[in-house]
Parts: sequence; structure tokens; C-alpha cells
Amino acid sequence: MTTPSDRPPLLELTGITRIFHVGSETVHALAGVDLTIRHGEFVSIMGSSGSGKSTLMNVLGCLDRPTDGDYYLDGQAVSRMSSWALADVRNARLGFVFQSFELMARTPAWKNVALPLMYGESGGRRAKVKALAALDKVGLSDRASHRPSQLSGGQKQRVAIARALVNEPKILFADEPTGNLDSQTTSEILDLFGQLHAEGHTLVMVTHESDVAAHAQRVIRMKDGRADSDLSTDQDPVTAPFRQSIEVTA
Ligand code: ADP
Ligand code: MG
Repeated sequence: MTTPSDRPPLLELTGITRIFHVGSETVHALAGVDLTIRHGEFVSIMGSSGSGKSTLMNVLGCLDRPTDGDYYLDGQAVSRMSSWALADVRNARLGFVFQSFELMARTPAWKNVALPLMYGESGGRRAKVKALAALDKVGLSDRASHRPSQLSGGQKQRVAIARALVNEPKILFADEPTGNLDSQTTSEILDLFGQLHAEGHTLVMVTHESDVAAHAQRVIRMKDGRADSDLSTDQDPVTAPFRQSIEVTA
């Protein structure tokens, strides 16, 4: 049997930088990030506004390319890929959830969820079956025909999570997923992430709120474009030593 520690890391970043030029100014949004994330981890990336969280997530999620450094995703050197190849990696292997849900307003929930499947081979009926199964997983099978405007904020975010899961991604990325939600709904969405983690999904969640970040099993704190600290929140004595070994190698 393979244990998580036998498998190569899912994500491996070394010396990642991202520099923006704005007029005569140079912004070091990422100033050398080394980071390793393993299969099945639930990691949150925390830090104050402007610390580089979104920039890091865009690089991790293949939405942007680093200025320098190496990034291996599931053994592939994605930091050197063309933007076309990156788009394929994104569509086939990654799922995204955003603060503002990013749903199509006049389209029923199930069609929003089925959208990522339209890029692949499975169109039509099969896509609908998969979309309904994903909605069921997030507890929304009774809202499949509702449009986003007929759903609450928490329900919209569940639709977005179902859409992110429909392609069975290797990783689910969430950038401030509870930023537009009240505290009750926030805890429901965090419970759902906890459930997905328990089922074996790998999750990376960006947040500026420490109580939200604490729901993850590992918290990486960004400061001035660097991973300033990397702490395990895992109190389980069985898995804690394993977590510590991750921190040393990260
Ligand atoms: P966070 O998500 O932690 O609030 P960001 O990653 O969005 O931080 O931004 C990090 C830094 O990089 C900030 O100083 C921001 O102004 C700058 N930055 C981010 N994106 C761009 C961009 N496209 N062009 C120029 N500067 C950017
Ligand atoms: Mg941000």
C-alpha cells in the first residue's frame, strides 16, 4: 500500500518570484517562495492585504506564470509551459472557487456546474449526470434548476464548489471563498471543505482571516511576498509527526 509520504509531492515550488512593473515601479509580489504540498492536504494561505496571497494562488493555479523559479505540479514542470498548455492543465486537473462565486446569472445551477465539462469530451447527457452528482455532493440536488439569482450566497458558493469538483480535479483552489458570506454560512462552507478533505481531496484556501485559516490542517502565512511561517494545526498524535516532517521539507 502506498502511504502519503511515499508519493511524490503534488505541488513543489522552489524560488518562485513574480515581479510586476507598474510605470517606473517594480513590485516584487512574490519574492522567492519555496513550498511543497502533498496529496490530500488541506492548506490555507494567510496574510494581510498585499502580502502576495492572490499572486501565489494564481501561480499555483496556473492562471499566471512566475517571473522565475521552478514549479512542478504532479511531476510536470508547469513553470515552463506555454499559456495554451497551462489552460489544458487548469481545465483538466484544477478546480477553482472565488469570493464572488463567478456564476452565470441566467443559467440554471446544473448548467453552471456542467460548464467545465464542455471543454472536454463529455458533453450532453453525461455532463448533466455528472453535474447533478456534483450538486448532490454539496447538498444542493433540490436546487439544480434554480438560477443563481434565486439562490442565497451560501448556495451560490456551493454551486461554485460543485463546478470546481465536476472534473474530479487533483486540487481545489479557493481564494477568499467566504469573503462574501455571513458567519453562519461561512462555517457551513468551511464544514463542506472539511468534509471534502476527509474524503481525500487536496484543498488550498486563501484567506486574510485567521479563524477561517484555522480550519485547514496547515497554515502558511505570507508576508512581503514570502512564506513567512508554515504551521500545522493538526493535533492528532498519529499524524502530527508526519505533518512535522512536511514542514521541515517544505
Ligand atoms: P493579496 O492577495 O495578499 O492581497 P496580491 O497577491 O493581490 O496580495 O498582491 C501582492 C502585491 O502585488 C501587491 O503589492 C499588489 O499591489 C501587487 N500586484 C498584484 N497584482 C498586480 C498586477 N497585476 N500588477 C501590478 N501589481 C500587482
Ligand atoms: Mg487577494
